[in-house]
Amino acid sequence: MLSFITPNEQELLQRIAALAEREGMPLRVVGGFVRDRLLQAANRLPVPPKPEMDFVTTGDALKLAELVATIFPHARHYQYGHFGTARVDWKEWMFEFATARTESYQSDSRNPDVVASTFEEDAARRDFTVNALAWGVNGAENGVLFDPFGGVRDLEQGILRTPLDPGKTFSDDPLRMMRAARFVAKLNFSIDPVTENGITENAARIEIVHVERIADELLQTLAAPFPHLGIDVLFRTGVLTYILPEIVELHGVDQRGKHSHKDVYTHTLQVLENASTLSNDIAVRLSALFHDIAKPQTKKFLPEIGWTFYGHEVLGVRSINRVFRRLRLSNLLAKRVGKITRLHMRPVRLAQEGVTDSAIRRLRVEAGEELEALLQLCRADITSANPKRVEKYLKNYQTMLQRLDLVEKRDHLSSFQSPVRGEEIAELCGIPFGPRIGMIKTAIEEAILDGVIPNEYEPAKVWLLENRERLLSEPEQRIRKKSLEQLDEKQVERLLQAVKESHEQSESNE
Ligand code: ATP
Ligand code: MG
Repeated sequence: MLSFITPNEQELLQRIAALAEREGMPLRVVGGFVRDRLLQAANRLPVPPKPEMDFVTTGDALKLAELVATIFPHARHYQYGHFGTARVDWKEWMFEFATARTESYQSDSRNPDVVASTFEEDAARRDFTVNALAWGVNGAENGVLFDPFGGVRDLEQGILRTPLDPGKTFSDDPLRMMRAARFVAKLNFSIDPVTENGITENAARIEIVHVERIADELLQTLAAPFPHLGIDVLFRTGVLTYILPEIVELHGVDQRGKHSHKDVYTHTLQVLENASTLSNDIAVRLSALFHDIAKPQTKKFLPEIGWTFYGHEVLGVRSINRVFRRLRLSNLLAKRVGKITRLHMRPVRLAQEGVTDSAIRRLRVEAGEELEALLQLCRADITSANPKRVEKYLKNYQTMLQRLDLVEKRDHLSSFQSPVRGEEIAELCGIPFGPRIGMIKTAIEEAILDGVIPNEYEPAKVWLLENRERLLSEPEQRIRKKSLEQLDEKQVERLLQAVKESHEQSESNE
């Protein structure tokens, strides 16, 4: 059989192939499975391969799928009658079955009329040469690699090329243009110039594609390892004009005298690239793409200052809502990306002197669950070409992180309390409520932070009784809780431990 696929995959293939053979159906596995396993064998697949196999047979694919569903326990089985295809889902696997076919298209639809045909004709309807590769899995063809259009060569060179005339390929099914962008984003391939030209010429045809399919391809492109490359394909070829004109608008530089601002489109791509190395969270990547979306509307030249974009982060939220509605993306995603965009200028300001803890706290509360995503976007947003500036921004960023961390710890500090409570101190010491109770409480807390006693009720009580006379006779000065900066590392560690314990305790009491 085939080399460089896992024993588990071998077994799956063999079982399905044997079943087809029994039915007298020649079977080939095609498309992504073949492409990605060959790339993987050459150590050139940037993502783990999908658990997905696409099969093509010259026999009855629907019947084969039905049979396959019976040999895998609890498999789910779907038929797409009018496309002549079927799918079987089993565990994490997705097996797709199609009868070899030729397609003919009407100009107003990307859904073709299909006629059963040969493997050769079927290969010619595929979008790219690297996707037209097929492996025979049974009969005399078992183990034979079929490469009718030079797909192996294109795979080696990392090139996307259509098997037939690109103009017709993309006009027939314009979704293929977005698939091209997605494969570039996934595989870091380039597009053959003639093929790319075919996309450019047919860019406007994207309008016959349903918006759900467009949105789905866009999300897949953004989720891939090189999203910026995929978006740039759409930009270069003009497809983006039809699906995200707001991003195309970011392109260009305005000049007033000596003052020019940076090209927001180029900056956006760079942020997207940075974001993709920092996070797989789709909201972070979408925010990278959209965070400056309102810069064109807010752009103003002020002679004393230069180019400004006041309020772009706020106005951006409106644009994002509009775009997300148009693409029928989820409300939840719109909310997340909107929030991250709205707050994206705030963290950097926190590095400035004079910014209060409460401002930091407010940001933390406002960002809520998106704090991590927000920080990732801010990190990705540092793109200057000037290394000195990058260094400065990075330093600000680090300072901001430290301040956030410090405030968080300080908030923990205030939730830390002596395990012996006020009423009991009053009782054990025989004194009424008053400032001295607070002082004694603080003394117990200090003893815990200094490591004299553990953060437990009994030892604290014993310590209080042993030190009672001293604590009662000391002058009634106000012992103030130390601020976090005054604590050494060990003390901070004990504090955090103590807070953790008290949280765990209150949880287990609930
Ligand atoms: P992946 O599953 O990794 O995204 P894939 O190449 O397997 O990539 P699928 O959408 O699973 O893509 O399709 C399987 C195969 O079917 C493709 O490799 C290609 O040969 C063919 N194919 C899918 N969609 C189209 C299309 N719109 N036009 C032409 N061929 C297509
Ligand atoms: Mg696939």
